[in-house]
Amino acid sequence: MSERRYDPTHDEWVTFATHRQDRTYKPSAAACPLCPTRPGHASTEVPREHFDVVVFDNRFPSLSTRPPAPDIAGTDLVPVEPAYGHCEVVVFTDDHDATLADVGVVRVQLLLETWARRVADLGADPGVRYVLPFENKGEAVGVTLHHPHGQIYAYPDVPPRPARELAAGRRHHDRTGRCVFCDVVAAEAGGPREVVAGEHVVAGVPPWARFPYEVDIWTREHVPSLPELPAEARADLARVLARVLAGYDAFFGLRTSYLLGLHAAPTDGGDRDVAHLHLEICPPHRGGGKLKYLAGSETFAGAFLTDVAPEVAAERLREACARAEVPV
Ligand SMILES: [Zn+2]
Ligand SMILES: [Zn+2]
Repeated sequence: MSERRYDPTHDEWVTFATHRQDRTYKPSAAACPLCPTRPGHASTEVPREHFDVVVFDNRFPSLSTRPPAPDIAGTDLVPVEPAYGHCEVVVFTDDHDATLADVGVVRVQLLLETWARRVADLGADPGVRYVLPFENKGEAVGVTLHHPHGQIYAYPDVPPRPARELAAGRRHHDRTGRCVFCDVVAAEAGGPREVVAGEHVVAGVPPWARFPYEVDIWTREHVPSLPELPAEARADLARVLARVLAGYDAFFGLRTSYLLGLHAAPTDGGDRDVAHLHLEICPPHRGGGKLKYLAGSETFAGAFLTDVAPEVAAERLREACARAEVPV
């Protein structure tokens, strides 16, 4: 079963992909499907002995270009659609035990270039309206394959959170004539919540951080999407991202788990004046071995409660990022 059902009580779609229950779950390193294929061994997802970055279709996709017919018929109240879209896997190192924090700036830059190419390709599909590159890292966020990798989802509509962001940006634009993120960058750059300052991008704990150590990375200029980010700025984004991830590990003293996602303009050409390229990185760690879970207030009220002041988190992360060793 694979289909999308509309929730008329919240005006959003939910995707069902029950075949994903059968997907590979925490395989041993010897059985890792994302490791290179070793001579004399069974073929993995990557039929090569070495690689830098590879992209392939997810074998257990939530969205697909040939979705099956839905199991139930939609109604006026609850429309049901085939789950159209793309789900790709991006493996950015052939080292089973590496992390994005230690593959080096050059590799992070290659990953960003790969994202840019995939966003352009998937966004060219007329059935796609939004492309989201992301990485779920670590057992604390429920990762089922330990080999370092990210994913790219291409959705048939603009999903709820980016849609809300764009709507808020539209209201700000109507009121002020400006992009809200451009205003945020102007206000945050060089301020108490800045974590790493690049030439073309700024990393900071947003004043509204939903996770205690959330860091967002914003482009200084108004750039709607990753394929449009000039090469120099992309290199700067790679440097700053690598430093933030190394800073997390230095600060927490462990391999930090996190959710990392890229927000940009819809791929249908809309909202380019209010869509401003940025990365959001949300670790569940609260320090001292404690984790933040999405509990009652977050789940039922949508109201996040955070127990570290963004200014304090930023000061700690700024110091950790400054002393962290960032591999080239
Ligand atoms: Zn592996
Ligand atoms: Zn902007």
